[in-house]
Amino acid sequence: NLQSQTLTFKAETKQLLDILIHSLYTEREVFLRELISNAADALTRMQFILLTEREVVDPEVELKITLIPEPEKRILRIIDTGIGMTAEEMIENLGTIAHSGARAFIQAVKETQANPNDIIGQFGVGFYSAFMVADQIEVISRSYQPNASAARWYSRGQETFQVEPAEKTNRGTEVILYLKEDANEFTQSVRLREIIKKHSEYIPYPIYLGDDQQPVNRQSALWRQPAKEIKPEDYESFYKQLTLDFQPPLFHLHLVIDAPVQVYALLYIPASPERGLLSARQEEGLKLYARKVLIQEYNRDLLPSFFRFVDGVVDSEDLPLNVSRESVQATRLLAQLKRILTTRLIEALKNWAKEKPADYITFWQRFGRYIREGIATDEEFGELLTPLLRFPTLYKPDQWLSLDDYILTMPARQNKIYYLISDSVGSALNSPHLEIYRRHHYDVLLLTDPMDPFMMLHLKKYQNLEIANAATEELSPPDTTSEAQETEKKPLSTEDEARLISRIKSILGDRVADVRTTQRLDESPARLVGRQGDPPQELQRLYRLLNA
Ligand code: ADP
Ligand code: MG
Repeated sequence: NLQSQTLTFKAETKQLLDILIHSLYTEREVFLRELISNAADALTRMQFILLTEREVVDPEVELKITLIPEPEKRILRIIDTGIGMTAEEMIENLGTIAHSGARAFIQAVKETQANPNDIIGQFGVGFYSAFMVADQIEVISRSYQPNASAARWYSRGQETFQVEPAEKTNRGTEVILYLKEDANEFTQSVRLREIIKKHSEYIPYPIYLGDDQQPVNRQSALWRQPAKEIKPEDYESFYKQLTLDFQPPLFHLHLVIDAPVQVYALLYIPASPERGLLSARQEEGLKLYARKVLIQEYNRDLLPSFFRFVDGVVDSEDLPLNVSRESVQATRLLAQLKRILTTRLIEALKNWAKEKPADYITFWQRFGRYIREGIATDEEFGELLTPLLRFPTLYKPDQWLSLDDYILTMPARQNKIYYLISDSVGSALNSPHLEIYRRHHYDVLLLTDPMDPFMMLHLKKYQNLEIANAATEELSPPDTTSEAQETEKKPLSTEDEARLISRIKSILGDRVADVRTTQRLDESPARLVGRQGDPPQELQRLYRLLNA
């Protein structure tokens, strides 16, 4: 049986508490977001258990969150009907820092010597953030398991916390905050309502305030509402509540599809590929709901791996609720959903590029490497990505051209797409390989990304045109009369030519296999070409990259 016991916080928890208690952080209202999100997590886990188990405490009770402010006592209670905690779970969960955001915060304070008050808001510090506004916290909880008894956790946020038996007959957790003198605002209904609206609007359970029978939050799943009724700022605020990203997303796609499968999806492209310490979503994958029930926090089977930077929510009526277990039906449906989501997202990106080219280029510059990777590695969807590519070219080195644009401006006699691999646009433009293309008035794509050679091994054709490496392609000079004449009057006699070649060979020695004359160059004295039978330049680059 449970004894009353006093335990000591772990060292890093103490550090965190010390910072939080003395915090002068002005947006300390985020503590409420953290406590509400914990309550919502506990409710989601309960909802999942209830799918298969009825032998629980209070099987019929409404899944909800209730806030009860008591201004005269300066107390705020946050009550949920979630999964609850046993005494052991309280010791485990509320005695250590499990939360990665909290750990990252401490790390950042140590390493950057930043003022904690300046950076606290960038980290979800979890449960302990309540010590910014409260000098004592009590948690009374009753687990859903019928034979577990209720327990009480109490701390003043210093060295220790206490755990002891408690009286609580109904299921769930009650967090009681004894607010600091200067935190009275958090007992004011108007203020609480405003905070809930701002940070917790889309929590999928009703949040009640005091005796009010009307939930404060909208809670309805945004993705299930008709797109016409949703304002751009609703999409943005949903994204921010989902990810805790403080930058708005670059792009979103809202899908409502009835056939061949029924699915709602809300997909976002974040502003930056770095998920960062700050994100509420620490892993890749989409949130998967089946009939409004959250069944997977991070599902990676719904989009190909090159789209792993995409965040969002997918909800299907057709999925069985046991999707997380092995099931043939679920696997087949997931594959079908993946095909639909992927092709629709690629289509949407293409349209976006047409409608908002400048925004699309921002996307390309930040996420282009994932698209290149997709072409290089994805058997199923890689080919669909080709229209999304953008490159600088010989004639437009400071712009981003699509392959379609390139083809549109090709001279009629040109019948291939040419590219040149190089380390930078600057060095590409100086390349002797390009001389002959200038003479032909053929444009050349300039490929400078380390991923490009790898990609080009898989990209051989587009719109029925061969895609060819400008450095290795055999291209004769254009057949204009003046040029034909020029090549006739050879600058050197055959004898001199032979002497020049043997001179160059003797200087370069083993470093070259052969030295030959060419008609192809006009201004540059020489160019380097591979030996016949050498691996293609793309592969050589790749080897170099892998050995670097
Ligand atoms: P995180 O939510 O990221 O895990 P927190 O510091 O917010 O980190 O919470 C720590 C842990 O305490 C949670 O993981 C959970 O196990 C437990 N917990 C907190 N609040 C509740 C609650 N209302 N009901 C059940 N468990 C809770
Ligand atoms: Mg939390």
